[in-house]
Amino acid sequence: MSTYARQNIVFARGEGSWLETDAGERYLDFGSGVAVNALGHAHPRLVAALTEQAGQLWHTSNLYRVAGQEKLAGRLVEVTFADKVFFCNSGAEACEGAIKAARRYHYVAGNPERWRIITAQGAFHGRTLATLAAAGNPKYLEGFGPEAPGFDHVPFGDLEAVRQAIGPETAAVMIEPVQGEGGVHVGAADYLRGLRALCDEAGILLVFDEVQTGVGRSGKLFSYEWSGITPDIMAIAKGIGGGFPLGAVLATERAASGLTAGTHGSTFGGNPLATAVGSAVLDVVLEPGFLEGVQQKALRLRQSLARIQDQFPSLVTEVRGQGLLAGIKVNAAPPDVVAAALSEKLLVVGAGDNVVRLLPPLTVDEQEIGEGIERLSRALTHVSKSQTR
Ligand code: PLP
Repeated sequence: MSTYARQNIVFARGEGSWLETDAGERYLDFGSGVAVNALGHAHPRLVAALTEQAGQLWHTSNLYRVAGQEKLAGRLVEVTFADKVFFCNSGAEACEGAIKAARRYHYVAGNPERWRIITAQGAFHGRTLATLAAAGNPKYLEGFGPEAPGFDHVPFGDLEAVRQAIGPETAAVMIEPVQGEGGVHVGAADYLRGLRALCDEAGILLVFDEVQTGVGRSGKLFSYEWSGITPDIMAIAKGIGGGFPLGAVLATERAASGLTAGTHGSTFGGNPLATAVGSAVLDVVLEPGFLEGVQQKALRLRQSLARIQDQFPSLVTEVRGQGLLAGIKVNAAPPDVVAAALSEKLLVVGAGDNVVRLLPPLTVDEQEIGEGIERLSRALTHVSKSQTR
């Protein structure tokens, strides 16, 4: 179907931060499949994990215990706030699972009237009917029938609006710590801490969508760690599979209490192939020094983007981000900047609020960051020339 406005380009292979087309042209990948290829392309550890598993066992269904799933869940529990993990295949499915967990928590606690979720304007939680309603973006909802009920939208970053929106029917607040698709809006630590306090006061759950920010992208394993608080439920996907479809809902024992046997499921969720890759991704990201390295590279990228802003003051109006999720706000149509970057063989990704995102693989090296910045600078030169023409 014609659901994507695709670039007319076919990649045939990839290695590290580089992609090669079927015609043999090399592109520097600062999009990472929109934060999916956390370890770049063809990472030897992921290739080994996947091929080894492929020779043993692909799928059994969740009718049986799945060893790789238990192992990965155990690792995630060890290194996060969570006590329980449910595996699925995508970000939207993880967000759906998080919404269901939050509603069902109140249901089994004897408060079935608590089912509404407070979400932020500018959010993106996926393309299923419930996650579209959760984000409330009219552009994506149009033509798909009545909006799924139960979501109350407030401005991102506005604690007072959340306080006022909480009512007797509220089950949870669901937020991206950094809004990615919405334009790389970083939730301040005070805001996230304030949300935690409001949720505790009201006896409702705090749900973080870390589908884009998770698994090292923010410079910490999860972005919530920057704020010093923890959510009750968290949706993850993208980076955890490093390119293999894998998502998960993480929750505390209490928040997971509603999702008992038979209440939720997913045929492919957490199958042996996916979880073998997920465990290998975690092994690499949790190696001593890896996340510190991401933070150093993020600083380098940030400083370079500040220089880009100095170089193009009327075109680049703001630089923002967290870790290796960076955004430049441009005085141009983001697709024009993306196209100009493509002409310089650099892949970047558009976002809302006139932002262009740079999401290099977490394994990017300093030299590649320098190269990416040079290409971006040339691309922005093309854009500013076409604007003055
Ligand atoms: N949540 C966030 C924060 C995302 O960035 C995305 C995808 O961009 C999703 C959910 C949806 O993920 P998926 O496309 O895997 O369903």
